[in-house]
Amino acid sequence: MLKKNLREALEEKLMELPVVEYQWMETDQIEFSEKVRYICRTECPRYGKSWSCPPGVGSVEECRERCRKYSEAFVFTTVAEVADAENLEEVFRSKAGHEEITRQIRQIFAPCFEEILALSGDSCSLCERCSYPEGPCRRPEAMLPCIEGYGIVVPALAEKAGISFLNQGNLVTWFGLLLLKEKEEDAVC
Ligand code: SF4
Repeated sequence: MLKKNLREALEEKLMELPVVEYQWMETDQIEFSEKVRYICRTECPRYGKSWSCPPGVGSVEECRERCRKYSEAFVFTTVAEVADAENLEEVFRSKAGHEEITRQIRQIFAPCFEEILALSGDSCSLCERCSYPEGPCRRPEAMLPCIEGYGIVVPALAEKAGISFLNQGNLVTWFGLLLLKEKEEDAVC
């Protein structure tokens, strides 16, 4: 369990960011399911089109094993306002601000942890056309794999974290998840 003073120091640094809700968790509280992967495969137009999505991210079991190397998790939400919540393209575009905040949180956390794996909602859209599968990811340091693409059950994650979906009216809730490997020595950050 992360030390209370480290949590408090990090939470203070986050106060200037538009994070709506957050929670610290242990990684083994995160639920994975093949059913989520089935939905990716059968319903998502991004399946097989990005290194941030399946099958590029590996099997659900590989994703689960990758996540288990990190003991702590930080889950958070941001909320975007769109003109038309039924317009999926507009909803997808509203993700850019959330991704930027996810990267900022990763940057704030970076000095305090041995290693961080940051996941975000939906597929990576950093390049106009993803290099998948012909070549390696062009920006692995900036790319954020998709939470659902890892097979993570987001409603269960939200429930365990006590975080609510604010998908009412024209509001869209975006989830972010940082998996954190603690330093062996006391973190100075
Ligand atoms: S950074 Fe570019 S190459 Fe990498 S996953 Fe995103 S879109 Fe694809």
